[in-house]
Amino acid sequence: MKWGLFGGTFDPIHMGHLRCAEEVRELFHLDRVVFIPTARQPLKTDQDIAPYDHRARMVQLAIDDNPEFALSDIEQQRGGTSYSIDTVTFFLNDVPKTRELYFIVGQDAFHRIQEWKDWEELLQRCHFIVMTRPGYETVDLPSILPERTAAGYVYDDRSDEFTGPSGTSIYFRRLTFLEISSTEIRARLMKEQSIRYLVPEAVHRYIVMNGLYKTP
Ligand code: ATP
Repeated sequence: MKWGLFGGTFDPIHMGHLRCAEEVRELFHLDRVVFIPTARQPLKTDQDIAPYDHRARMVQLAIDDNPEFALSDIEQQRGGTSYSIDTVTFFLNDVPKTRELYFIVGQDAFHRIQEWKDWEELLQRCHFIVMTRPGYETVDLPSILPERTAAGYVYDDRSDEFTGPSGTSIYFRRLTFLEISSTEIRARLMKEQSIRYLVPEAVHRYIVMNGLYKTP
């Protein structure tokens, strides 16, 4: 069983997230992609974030019709600040059946990996799939990771992957990166502009029905 873990604030989830998750699933033959909304995001503390329940419900509505996509509320259940290292450890230790885990991140997020708790340990515990975007394709590990860490990775040009000392790999993959961000969606809603086709219709309806993102 190969599972992708896709963490995010998802405030709200949008077509950019969904399209990339679908392409990653297909490309890596993943059995499942698990969307994991962050309960308390350590790197976005100064931002006003919608309540967890709204964000999780929107993820569920967005993925409802895809049997290979699932939602996990582990970060809400665990409480406290949401750290990826704890989430990955949970999936490795506490979810029955040993499985290969692929942590899915956008390149912007991966460039800040050194700010993540126990990031070196995290890279050793699961594979990383870094979704690159046009014009922002740094696939040169030493420019992202400290030299001593990058030196532990070996690049295989046949499989286009960097394999680290524990056998886990980092993959940079160019996907159909839709230039959509949750920030832009929230800004549009505040200005009472349309967000149709930027999010799934069910998410659009949920936002309107619950009056989300109306005030700054
Ligand atoms: P915000 O604008 O509020 O910062 P966001 O749109 O970047 O939000 P997040 O929930 O913070 O969304 O992102 C979750 C993950 O999805 C991160 O790894 C991020 O890099 C990635 N991501 C963000 N936007 C896109 C996109 N358009 N396509 C693919 N992945 C994306």
